[in-house]
Amino acid sequence: MLLDSNEAKISALRIISRCNELAKITCEDIGITRLYLSKEHLIVNKLVGQWMKESGMSVWQDAVGNICGRYNAKFICSPAVILGSHLDTVKNAGRYDGILGVLSGIEIVYWLNKKNIRLELAIEVIGFGDEEGARFGITLLGSRGITGTWKNKWLSYTDNQGISIEQAMIKFGLNIKNIYQASRDKKDIAAYVELHIEQGPCLEQENLPIGVVTNIHGARRFKCSFIGESGHAGTVPMKYRKDALFAFAEWMKYVEYTTIKKNSQLVATVGMISCNPGSTNVIPGIVNFSLDIRGPQDIMLESLSSLLLKQGKVIANNRHLIFEYKEYYRTSEVICDSILRNILCTSIQKIQGKSILLPSGAGHDAIAISERWPVAMLFIRNYRGISHNPEESVDINDIALSLQAYSDGICNIIKKKAEY
Ligand SMILES: [Zn+2]
Repeated sequence: MLLDSNEAKISALRIISRCNELAKITCEDIGITRLYLSKEHLIVNKLVGQWMKESGMSVWQDAVGNICGRYNAKFICSPAVILGSHLDTVKNAGRYDGILGVLSGIEIVYWLNKKNIRLELAIEVIGFGDEEGARFGITLLGSRGITGTWKNKWLSYTDNQGISIEQAMIKFGLNIKNIYQASRDKKDIAAYVELHIEQGPCLEQENLPIGVVTNIHGARRFKCSFIGESGHAGTVPMKYRKDALFAFAEWMKYVEYTTIKKNSQLVATVGMISCNPGSTNVIPGIVNFSLDIRGPQDIMLESLSSLLLKQGKVIANNRHLIFEYKEYYRTSEVICDSILRNILCTSIQKIQGKSILLPSGAGHDAIAISERWPVAMLFIRNYRGISHNPEESVDINDIALSLQAYSDGICNIIKKKAEY
């Protein structure tokens, strides 16, 4: 059972127009920036909640600010399959990352409701309030509300204006004493399926609109420093210097070489660097920088990070400097559920002739949800794989095809899950 091509085209048009509408809800004059617990978050929840209602769902905003809609099954108390993704963005974001998944879920329910079809399990659509972590530096706060794994200490984390999560929640209209109420019982949810743009070039290279995710790569993040000694740029001979930036440059070459050599699925990124004191005529004394490593399997991540960090120490020793690091974030690889994955593959095969399996190098809400429930993901090709960028773009025909595959996959997943 799936949307016919005409229904899918109409739905895809509505999705594009809604993505454009949501793109206007931003705190910046140029680009799209929508942060967790901001006034833009509140406005988006209201609008998306309205669309959920119009498509036949009962709607509520949960205790951590996720907007949730439920379309009941034949029997009102049946467990649900969740179709979700996030409504927050990074700074200067595109208009489809996360949002496309939420709006596609709403379209599936709209189609079922219009046809007056009730399935064996309920469908819930969730627009998570925070996946990106762009405001408070910790990610997946929305989905962690659903899994009941919120930590008390997070409430004191602050944004760059010094506003804590606790203060932001109160301003948003939430009660911190009720956070646990967002948590869902294991038995009430049968599975989680997320549709998302690929954010990479693989589908485009394969000339295919849709793919199924095998696993979501794990990640390690570190704050690192080379500490040397600043000095006069004219008077200190090269051999007496403790230049932190030269040490950093030597180490960077090692990072690229080693990561490429180790495994083609591993990636390492140094995205932030500050060179101090940062003056033309002063030898750099301290270089602070970030290191982000991602890839499949904890053992591979562990081995790469230990090689890179060890080499930092070696280079620092050779140059009479100090190398320091602190790990501040880690996620393990998430394997998508094989039963759900196979069902999605069959549905995609029906629509585009063949299915393709691919890993996700980016993190998603499915990471948190997988701690309690089986998860699966479907990727849609996006133009040149560009994402976290206003240039992010998705073809309307690809959205229509993915809705056909998604609707078929969800109906079959529900049929299979209802057998248990
Ligand atoms: Zn996303």
